[in-house]
Amino acid sequence: MARCINCGNTGAEYQHYDGGYVCEGCVGSYFTCPDCGRVFDQDDYENGDAGNGFCAKCAPNH
Ligand SMILES: [Zn+2]
Ligand SMILES: [Zn+2]
Repeated sequence: MARCINCGNTGAEYQHYDGGYVCEGCVGSYFTCPDCGRVFDQDDYENGDAGNGFCAKCAPNH
């Protein structure tokens, strides 16, 4: 099982765009793109939340 890049617990299943995984307990501290399912840092406006609820990569498709 993957380790959470935020707290180190095993069982992390949310993929962070920059590599690694985030666990259920920590995913709330991240922005999750409902399209690709990846998580981004909350303050990462370059790759993460493009303003319409999707990441920068998926935003043009919505
Ligand atoms: Zn965690
Ligand atoms: Zn996305």
